[in-house]
Amino acid sequence: MDPATIRDGSAVATGRPMTLLLAEGFALKTFPYAEAHRVCVFFTRQHGIVKAVAHGSRSLKSKFGSGLELFSEIRMSYREREDRELGQLVTCDVLKSRFDAASDPVTAAMLSYWAELVIEFFPPHQANDAVYRLLTASLACLEQPFEPDSLFHYVETWIVRLAGFFPDLKTCLTCGTPFAPDSDIRIAHDGSPECVACGGPANATITTDARRVYSKLARTSPAEFSTLVIEPFARESLAEANQRIIGAILERPLKSYSIWRQLRMEPHGL
Ligand SMILES: [Zn+2]
Repeated sequence: MDPATIRDGSAVATGRPMTLLLAEGFALKTFPYAEAHRVCVFFTRQHGIVKAVAHGSRSLKSKFGSGLELFSEIRMSYREREDRELGQLVTCDVLKSRFDAASDPVTAAMLSYWAELVIEFFPPHQANDAVYRLLTASLACLEQPFEPDSLFHYVETWIVRLAGFFPDLKTCLTCGTPFAPDSDIRIAHDGSPECVACGGPANATITTDARRVYSKLARTSPAEFSTLVIEPFARESLAEANQRIIGAILERPLKSYSIWRQLRMEPHGL
């Protein structure tokens, strides 16, 4: 890595040209960079995950305003050099802010979790139209009354599915027997589905009710699914199975998930 990359991400050090790129997308995450800047991670329609330094964005008078806030929908321009992962944000206009929705701690926790999943599951610089549409349609659900758990698990499950990691819940991977429609499925520590006879009791269990929720989720829009109430036992089964599958892929728990769990365990409206 050349010293300029380490110092400030600028491209003055070598003669390689920088390209000015335009994109629409969502702000997913920021972290401090040097004294006055932040690095922002976006998920864009045109280029997938993009990381860019927002110069001066830690100042109150930052020209980027609320464009860097969680799931702000933005139109941005940024400079990028071919051999660098980190671009430079030039402009960032807010098309839609999530300020009101994110003032609710449960919604804010849900959005942080989605952001973390997208960052973990999708590589930089690869557009993914299906994920972009999923996020757009799911964020639109925040505008109407919705069941937080249903919307949360809808997006969680679909992200894993669109990333290609959701197991096929048709056959036991150990003995090859197709699952009977009314049987539980176990999810092993490596994320593979097993029949009850093959799977140990320590495995996560997808109950028959949870299987029905998964299949509903696979063929329903977020607008419809987010209004459904999932029965608590089925929801817990699905939540546990998803965590097992995600944990097997990422090999570590996601910080934002424990915040979400904590909030959902506490009584609300007090
Ligand atoms: Zn089996």
